[in-house]
Amino acid sequence: MSARTHALPEEGETDALYERLRAYAGRPAAEPACGRDPVNEPMIRHWCEVLGHPVPADGSAPATMLQVWTMAGPAGSRGGRSGPYGELLGALDGAGYTSIVATDCEQEYVRPLRPGDEITYDAVIESVSPRKTTKLGTGYFVTTRMDVRAGGALAGTHRFRVLKYRPVNRRTAETGTGADKPRRPRPVVNRDNAGFWEGVARHQLLFQRCTACATPRFPWLPGCNVCGCAEWQPVAASGRGTVYSYVVMHHPPFPAFDPPYAVALVELAEGVRIVSNVTGVRHDEVRIGMPVELEFLRVDDDLELPVFRGAGTEWRREL
Ligand code: ZN
Repeated sequence: MSARTHALPEEGETDALYERLRAYAGRPAAEPACGRDPVNEPMIRHWCEVLGHPVPADGSAPATMLQVWTMAGPAGSRGGRSGPYGELLGALDGAGYTSIVATDCEQEYVRPLRPGDEITYDAVIESVSPRKTTKLGTGYFVTTRMDVRAGGALAGTHRFRVLKYRPVNRRTAETGTGADKPRRPRPVVNRDNAGFWEGVARHQLLFQRCTACATPRFPWLPGCNVCGCAEWQPVAASGRGTVYSYVVMHHPPFPAFDPPYAVALVELAEGVRIVSNVTGVRHDEVRIGMPVELEFLRVDDDLELPVFRGAGTEWRREL
């Protein structure tokens, strides 16, 4: 049933979804709003300095600053997404077109903006394209147009286009079947790092310690990058560590991985760092400094990986 709902129309068949989507053209894309600050000299000067742009001699704002005057800033939600635009994106999500990418933006400048100009703006859903097939996947281009006004008179327009698409599953495309769950990439095991993977098989996380200068190192290398010595001993990590840094992976999706997930650089108690996953806490609970504990994750029949179990949010209350 759901496969039927998500089936793409055949060539020539009416695209009922498109008919639904195009009805949104002309409806608001954002709530009307006013600029956070009037056009002002300090902002013009900062922008010009950062971009290496000459400050216009007549004191006007460079035309390409158009969007600067409509930005809400990190805390604000001025001109937030309208109800109809939310519905349009929701309809696409519901039909399986769950990915989004910005494709292009086009600005037209109607009249220069000068310090003191009070900015107002609104945005409209200008058009929705018929279904298109791109290398990213099949989907619909949605164009919104923001009109920027100063003292009520049009100063410029900002068109922004996104593609809402259903991503191509490369593995399915290659094999013609989606039956097998894609497997995680295999580690490359060679003579320089084989000892590490032998340790993993015994549920030990081994790093190297230089025989000459005792510097610990990870990942495994044939020689010490402090003293150059090629002799070393393997040392089993205690398994205790902290999150030194991390990112949360959202996009692009890779087969066998289910975003969002946290990728952490874990600093072991012994001083070396390792890139791994944090388990046991939600991706948005991972924090720098979070204590973690080594464990081994069986990924599939052939692959086991060292990962780190996070301590949740309890540890911060204890500080
Ligand atoms: Zn050394």
